[in-house]
Amino acid sequence: MKKSELSKYKTVLEAEQAELLHLVRNREGIAIEKSPDAFDEVQHATERELAIRNLDRESNLLRNVRAALRRIEDCSFGVCLYCEEDISLKRLVAVPWAAFCIQCQEIADRNKVDNADNLDELLVNAA
Ligand SMILES: [Zn+2]
Repeated sequence: MKKSELSKYKTVLEAEQAELLHLVRNREGIAIEKSPDAFDEVQHATERELAIRNLDRESNLLRNVRAALRRIEDCSFGVCLYCEEDISLKRLVAVPWAAFCIQCQEIADRNKVDNADNLDELLVNAA
């Protein structure tokens, strides 16, 4: 991938990272907030649950975004972590932190794994 293209993805990923960091920090606040009032406490519990679920999702995404930024640094960005084929541009534009090509991602999703080591293990075991 060309340097000019890489820097475009880098800008997008850095903006995403900043936004996620902001969200995650705010949610941590909600997640630990306690109230002495029982009614408030019930309401808080629901909010907390939602906040924790979102926090979970956002932390995961943040991890993926950070990993993608690392791949830009070490020039492996845009290449599937598993099969080492180029990830399609269409996919990268839609999901710039994508670590797998669409085929490998489908296998990963079906088996709920999100990193290359797990996927590797899975495919070895399946063989
Ligand atoms: Zn692949």
